[in-house]
Amino acid sequence: MTIQISEYIDAIPDFPKPGILFRDISPLLNSPEAFSLAVDQLADYAKSLGASSLVAIESRGFIFGAPVALRAGLPLALVRKPGKLPGTTERIDYGLEYGSDALEIKHGVIQAGTRVAIIDDVLATGGTAAATASLIARLGASVAGYVFLAELCGLGGRSKLGDVPVHSLLDF
Ligand code: AMP
Repeated sequence: MTIQISEYIDAIPDFPKPGILFRDISPLLNSPEAFSLAVDQLADYAKSLGASSLVAIESRGFIFGAPVALRAGLPLALVRKPGKLPGTTERIDYGLEYGSDALEIKHGVIQAGTRVAIIDDVLATGGTAAATASLIARLGASVAGYVFLAELCGLGGRSKLGDVPVHSLLDF
């Protein structure tokens, strides 16, 4: 039986706020076969970018970032919500589809002059991924490209990500 990864993503209306159609990855995570296939395909995208490390965005980006980094043979670095990382960090404040937030990355996890790939579950407005790219730039590194499980095409997030490859497994 051929696995259609899109069939493992639920669409939940009005969550977490009225007007948001939330893409729920729970069925995908519940299926080892579908999850494994998604990770394989995301790892192929990540490898194709020629990056020297993979940066995963909290929190659902971690779910995909860890297995993709292992399969792609890439070092993994974490971009986290404020106050979670020990030591000195870079911080950026940004707006997202439902609210605003801030992200941090720890000094020393990315080397200046390197090219990194960024991974998250969903590309919506692009604010979170663009903020992550700004953090990478502050560390003196650059973005080789982006890898997403799903892209919400109507929100135009891709236009915020500059002139680098943006790969998404599913378009909604
Ligand atoms: P954005 O910054 O607007 O691209 O939002 C991306 C982040 O918010 C990702 O980390 C997603 O996990 C989450 N997100 C935004 N919109 C949705 C949605 N409709 N369904 C699921 N996750 C979403």
